[in-house]
Amino acid sequence: MRDGVSPEDPTQLRKELERYRLVVTELQGRIQALEGDLQTATTMAEMPQVVVTQPELRQTLSRLINKVAMIVQSEKVLTLLYQAEAGKLSVLPPTLGVGEEQAAELQITPDQGVTGLVYRTGESAIFNNAVEDPRTLKTKIALLGVRNGICVPLKIKQRDETERIVQERIIGVMHVFNKRYEQEFNDDDVRLLEMLAEQAAAVVSNAQLYIQLTEEKERLEETFESIHAGVIVVSNQGTIRLINSAACQMLGLPADGYDGRSLDEVIHLESVRSLLDESLHEGVEASRELDIPGTERIYKAETSLMAGDNGQLQNVVAIFNDITEIRQVERMKTAFVSTVSHELRTPLTSIKGFVATLLDDTEDAYDAEMRHEFYEIINQECDRLTRLISDLLNISRIESGRALDMQLSTVDLHGVANRVLTTQQQYTDRHQLVNAVPEGFPSIIADADKVVQILDNLVGNAVKYSPNGGVVTIAAEDDGEMVRLDVTDEGLGIPERHQDQVFQRFHMVDDDVNHKAVKGTGIGLYLVKHLAQAHGGDAWLARSEVDKGSTFSVSLPKEATEAAR
Ligand code: ADP
Repeated sequence: MRDGVSPEDPTQLRKELERYRLVVTELQGRIQALEGDLQTATTMAEMPQVVVTQPELRQTLSRLINKVAMIVQSEKVLTLLYQAEAGKLSVLPPTLGVGEEQAAELQITPDQGVTGLVYRTGESAIFNNAVEDPRTLKTKIALLGVRNGICVPLKIKQRDETERIVQERIIGVMHVFNKRYEQEFNDDDVRLLEMLAEQAAAVVSNAQLYIQLTEEKERLEETFESIHAGVIVVSNQGTIRLINSAACQMLGLPADGYDGRSLDEVIHLESVRSLLDESLHEGVEASRELDIPGTERIYKAETSLMAGDNGQLQNVVAIFNDITEIRQVERMKTAFVSTVSHELRTPLTSIKGFVATLLDDTEDAYDAEMRHEFYEIINQECDRLTRLISDLLNISRIESGRALDMQLSTVDLHGVANRVLTTQQQYTDRHQLVNAVPEGFPSIIADADKVVQILDNLVGNAVKYSPNGGVVTIAAEDDGEMVRLDVTDEGLGIPERHQDQVFQRFHMVDDDVNHKAVKGTGIGLYLVKHLAQAHGGDAWLARSEVDKGSTFSVSLPKEATEAAR
């Protein structure tokens, strides 16, 4: 079963579907918005070069910083950006003339030093005696070996169509330190630096926006891909906008290259095309169940409509959920109800028949021996009914998640095996039932009735599924903290493809005529496993070979585990 949806629970599936619908709608909206932003980011007038990756940004900044150093004749250049989460300005690499470790130490809040001042006011500052200047942070000046410097703001300017500046935002500052040849910085240097800083600000902000948007877009696309339901988004023009890998897999399509291609060209499956066409042309949400040819899988397909800002239909989203397991369990449940009814009716009919015969026998036509035989049959049929009803009650407890009611006592396994085999032997003379659990085999602390029920089911199956008779044995192994019981028969065996599944509820070998001839409900082994697990043990198929027979094993702890207490 695929994770996420329990196939037994259609309400949960409906909820999942609703969740997917919301995710897809949100993704679609956000991807569209991102595409718009990306467009703007790449075409912004100030951007001297389209920078689309971190290394490209570093390279461009490095060139710019060298240009700055050359033009204003400075020894050191560094840029600090305001990081909103940290509430601090920190260095954006690359730098010139400043070591990486020193740069990493520069974390400056907006109320500190020249950096903070320029960031807050947006006004450039020049200082020709760094050590004496009251505005400078002395520790940083000492750290970087600064004699003099200029600090200018990094401003992002938004202009309208007439190139008029409509908005300004400061994202950080640029410093140059130590004018070469023992000279001092002047106002011309400030103006030059302001011009270069404007370029740097544009590069940084556009690149950051671009990188952030691309990363977000990639993340959204990954989320879209990871949805395990198939999703197809078709535009109102009938072209594919998105198709995730689950949908490609479902339709048997290669993974890529559908963007912008027409629906009819890509999707050949008539049922899927007509579903999408219905929503596209009639503007209605549609839903249906689809059998995908060649896969034996059933999908629930649902479409939803997505309108643009103008209220017109823009995209149709189709979501495909694999409901094969749900349908299978539904079919099994229906079959189960009919077999259980049959299983209940058969012993009842028999009991009723014999009781009626005895009641009618007012003339004493049947002798005492005959009557005794009738009573025995009635007794056995009552046992059969009791067993079935007790199985059903236990199943309903397990299904509703309630703990099984455990009555712990010391259980002698040789004695229990004897009891089970004696009862079962009453129903057959074609089988030889052998108790190979030695007398004196270690006792265990367990619920005796449940151990009986486990063995009763296993021996019952061994007899049922050995229509030609044979030996059925209960053996036991002492495994230290656990004991193991093995029930072996020489019957039909279980085809390999069913071996993993026989412990599932309602599972019956249904493609084999010999198995089909035997009446069953498909709950016996499911119950055996749960009863063993309730003790802190387990049950499994140890060996099985068609027409040779099977061995089922059960492990049980010698001392009852906490779970069983
Ligand atoms: P059922 O009531 O159908 O016997 P179980 O859960 O006990 O239900 O068993 C599940 C299926 O496993 C059976 O329908 C049968 O096909 C197969 N099976 C169980 N025990 C044996 C066995 N000893 N030999 C062969 N097949 C078996």
